[in-house]
Amino acid sequence: MEIIKKIELMQELSDKWRRDGHIISCVPTMGFLHQGHVELLRVGRDKGDRLIMTIFVNPTQFGPHEDYERYPRDTEGDLDKARSAGVDAVFMPTVEEMYPDGFQSAVTVNTITQYLCGKSRPGHFAGVTIVVAKLFNITKPHLAIFGEKDYQQLAVIRQMVRDLNMDIDIIGVPTVREQDGLAMSSRNKYLSPEERLSALSLKKGLDLAKAMIKDGEKDSATIKTAVRELILAHPFTEIDYVTICDPEKLTDIEHLDGPSLLALAVKVGKARLIDNIIL
Ligand code: AMP
Repeated sequence: MEIIKKIELMQELSDKWRRDGHIISCVPTMGFLHQGHVELLRVGRDKGDRLIMTIFVNPTQFGPHEDYERYPRDTEGDLDKARSAGVDAVFMPTVEEMYPDGFQSAVTVNTITQYLCGKSRPGHFAGVTIVVAKLFNITKPHLAIFGEKDYQQLAVIRQMVRDLNMDIDIIGVPTVREQDGLAMSSRNKYLSPEERLSALSLKKGLDLAKAMIKDGEKDSATIKTAVRELILAHPFTEIDYVTICDPEKLTDIEHLDGPSLLALAVKVGKARLIDNIIL
C-alpha cells in the first residue's frame, strides 16, 4: 500500500493507473476509521480495481467553535485497517499542502446547502465542496463512495458533480450501525457510557416514526413532535433539528404521501450526532 502526502505524487500515480486502463475508486474520510468506513472501502474495492482512501481532517468544514482541534485521530490504526481492506494508496496531505498561503477559491452549491445541517453549521458545506472538489482533482477517480449517514453531504456532492460536469460516479452506501442500532461515527468516541445510552434515542426516534407511518399517520408535525419527545425523554440530549423533508430538494414536507426523508441532528453531551431514514 502506498502512503502519499504530496498532491503531485498522488496525481502522477492516478495518471499512471488511468493510462494502464484501471478503474479508480476513491473513498474520502477524515480518518479514525470504523466499520462504516470499512464498508465504503469494500464497495470501492468491489466496483473498481484501484482503491484510494484519503485521510484529511478538513479545517474549512469546521465552524470556529466546533471540534476540529479535538477531532479523534489514529493514523497507525487507520493505515492497518486500510491495508486489511485492500486499499492501494492512502492520500493523507497536510493542511498546508491542501491550503497553501494565498489559497482563495470556493465551490458553492446554493440551495440544498441552506437546509438541515447547513442552517446550524454555516459554512460547513462550503468546506465540504471545496475539499471534495480538490480531492477529486488530486485522486482523479472514476468512482467515489460516500455514506448515506451524511445524507445531505451526499446530496450536495451529487449536485456539485452534476452541475460542474465532473466525470465521476457517486455511489451512496447505507448506514452501518452498531448492534444496538447506533449509527457508527468517529464522534461516538466523545460519548460517556451514560451518554452512549442516550445516543440510542436517535435510532429509536427513526423507528418510532416508521411505526407511526405504518399505523397510518401522515401528518409530519405529529410525527416530528413524537420523535422530539422521545429524544428529549433521554438525558444529555439537545435537539438541533428533527426534519421531515423531500429526499432530493430537502425542502420541508407537511403531509406524507410520497417518499420523504426524516433527518435528525442531536447533541448528546459534547457529541453532535446525525441520523436519517427514508420513510
Ligand atoms: P468521515 O470520516 O466521518 O468524514 O466519513 C467519511 C465517509 O464515511 C463519509 O462518506 C461518511 O458518510 C461515511 N460514513 C461515516 N459513518 C458511516 C456509517 N456509519 N455508515 C456508512 N458510512 C459512513
